[in-house]
Amino acid sequence: MVATPIGNVADITLRALHVLGLVDRIAAEDTRNTGQLLARYGISKPLLAVHQHNERAAALRIIEHLQAGERVAYVSDAGTPGISDPGAKLVDAVREAGFPVIPLPGASALATALSAAGDWVATFSFLGFLPPKAKQRAATLQPLATHPYAMVFYEAPHRIVETVEALGEAFGGERKLLIARELTKLHEALHQCTLAEGPTWLAEDANRQRGEFVLVVEGAQAETAGEHDHDALLGILLEELTVSSAAKVAAAITGVSRNALYTRALALKKDEDEDDGGDGGEESEG
Ligand code: SAM
Repeated sequence: MVATPIGNVADITLRALHVLGLVDRIAAEDTRNTGQLLARYGISKPLLAVHQHNERAAALRIIEHLQAGERVAYVSDAGTPGISDPGAKLVDAVREAGFPVIPLPGASALATALSAAGDWVATFSFLGFLPPKAKQRAATLQPLATHPYAMVFYEAPHRIVETVEALGEAFGGERKLLIARELTKLHEALHQCTLAEGPTWLAEDANRQRGEFVLVVEGAQAETAGEHDHDALLGILLEELTVSSAAKVAAAITGVSRNALYTRALALKKDEDEDDGGDGGEESEG
C-alpha cells in the first residue's frame, strides 16, 4: 500500500519511488493518473485497475499475481490508500490469502490538515465524507453533537457551503472550525474561524469554494459532552425535587457543573410537561 502525493508531486517519498521501481506490477485506482505520476519519475510498470466498483474482483487478480511470485504495489488516486479511498477490501483479501500487506507511509489530507490545526485537535475522530443528502447528513451529525473529540471531515467543492452550514446547525455556531483547502497546492488556504463564521467566509470569495477540502471541527466541551449522560439520574431526582434542587444533588453526585445540570434538568422538565400536555412553563424555584 503506497501513499502518493495529494497535490504537490514532490511529496512522494524516496521509499515509495524505490518500491514502485522495484515491484512487478502496480495496481492503481486510476491508471491514467498513476501513469502520469510514474512517468514523471521515469517509472514504467504494468498497471492494473482497482477501483471502488471492482475492488473485490481485482483483489482476486492481484492474489493470482502474488501466487505467481510477483510483487504488487497498490496506489490510490491521491494520498494514502484506504483513507476515504479504495484499498481496504484489497488489504483484507490479500491478508486472507496469506500474503503480507506492507504499508508505506506518505501524504494524506487528514494528517496534513491536522498537523497545522493546533492544540485543540489533540484528540480527534476521522469521519471522512458525510452523506450527500441533507436528511441523512443531519441524522449522521445529530449523535455527534456530544462527541468530545475534534472531528475531521472530507468534502468536495460543490457541497462545501451546505456541509459547513449543516455542521453549524448540528453543533452550534460557536465551535472552532478549520477549513483546509487545496493542501500542498498552489491555492492552498488554511482558515480558522467558528462554525457560524464559516459559510460567510466561504461566500465572500467564490474562489474559496473551489478545490478539495478538509474540515476540522472542535469537539463538544466536557459539559456538553456529558449533557445527556445524567438524564436518568436527573429524571429520578425531578420526580421528587425542583429543577434547582435536582441540579444541586446531581452536581454533588456526579461532579459535573451545577449550571450545566440545571440547564439539562430544565429541558427535561419542559419535555415532560409538554408530554403531559402542560403549558411547558418553567417551574418557580423556591
Ligand atoms: N486517500 C486520500 C487521503 O489520504 O487523504 C483521500 C482521498 S478522498 C477520495 C479525496 C478527499 O480528500 C477530497 O475530497 C478532500 O476532501 C480530501 N483531500 C484530498 N486532497 C486534498 C488536498 N490537497 N487538500 C484538501 N483536501 C484534500
